[in-house]
Amino acid sequence: MAKQFLRPSYIELDRSALENNLQFIKSNAANGLRISSVIKGNAYGHGISNYLPIAEKCGIDHFSVFCADEAAGAFKYKTKESTDIMIMGMIRNDELKWAIDHGIEFYLFEKDRLESAIEAASEIGKKARIHLQIETGMNRTGFEEDQWHDIFKRVKSNKDHLDLRGICTHYAGAESVANYYRVQNQDKAFRNAIEVAKTVFYELPTLHASSSAAFLTYPDMHYDMVRIGIAQYGFWPSRETYMHVLKQNNSFTKDPLIRVLNWKSEIMSTKWVGEGEFIGYGNVFMTSRKMRIATVPIGYSHGFGRNLTNAGYVLIKGDRARVVGLVNMNMLTVEITDMPDAKKGDEVVIIGKQNGQEITVASFGEMSNNLNYEVLTRLPARIPREVLGI
Ligand SMILES: *Cc1c(COP(=O)(O)O)cnc(C)c1O
Repeated sequence: MAKQFLRPSYIELDRSALENNLQFIKSNAANGLRISSVIKGNAYGHGISNYLPIAEKCGIDHFSVFCADEAAGAFKYKTKESTDIMIMGMIRNDELKWAIDHGIEFYLFEKDRLESAIEAASEIGKKARIHLQIETGMNRTGFEEDQWHDIFKRVKSNKDHLDLRGICTHYAGAESVANYYRVQNQDKAFRNAIEVAKTVFYELPTLHASSSAAFLTYPDMHYDMVRIGIAQYGFWPSRETYMHVLKQNNSFTKDPLIRVLNWKSEIMSTKWVGEGEFIGYGNVFMTSRKMRIATVPIGYSHGFGRNLTNAGYVLIKGDRARVVGLVNMNMLTVEITDMPDAKKGDEVVIIGKQNGQEITVASFGEMSNNLNYEVLTRLPARIPREVLGI
């Protein structure tokens, strides 16, 4: 693996892990179920410019993003004309023409934006590719029950300007059994909306509702498409979801999902520090013996939280080295007293494997009380990403 020039750390993306995860996802889906790869948040920290093309090579032809800005990024890096991009959240009226012109699909959940989309589409003479989002109990965005019929009618009567691609909703926490009834009620509401749609449209568009957790937990909520985020990257939405899947398939001998991302750096410098000395800023860590420490050019500005001060670990020479002292903006210090061979330039693994030892995002997150989702998306875009296995 070539070291990244001019950068203190780098992220590797493992294409074979992604292939494995998509295979596993497909093995849980009926034939014909479309998979939309959710790549909001810079592809959950994986880097949209690197991740999107490898997902496309693995057969993904639909990507979901949060906003127009992310859609523009996805549009820039897609390599196939036929690849669809869908905005699930924020688009402003003055961005509608751009989206329509580029064939970007977008959610509609308010009457005024529906009208603006009709107007923009008629002005540029191209159909807006829309997904109608149904409010089913998440209580965030979506058309309310008393609007369903009128909205569907309005869409139908403007079919020269609107290409209705989907009707959709989002469940409020399918990763926890605590939300079981809420999710079931949401699904009932979604089915009611579909019944109303059937009275208006001759043919229904793509129906979609599930993210990774609902997809893995509730097969009757798959509909025509699922929006898979965290699972494609090799993580479970929650331990409960993992337990649920294990119970369904007791043939697994190991975790069927494999982490796509590894984060690595190198030892910047080493030194011996005498007993009873403080390391780094302030008096956060005092040596209890003569100690050898290594500095690593990673700090909180790179997503290695200050809350990992005196608590985090990294891997060096296949062993865990503990963080001693405060995590700085660009640097941290670890103890390597019992690693006499460790030297400047040696590989440091922050997330990933080394000689059979592993630091997962979950354990990195647990040390700092963060979810996988949050740790991943906080990885700065400026850390270079490199794809393995292309
Ligand atoms: C983020 C998101 C998803 C994907 O969620 P995962 O738990 O990562 O699979 C699906 N749908 C919507 C609307 C989302 O915002």
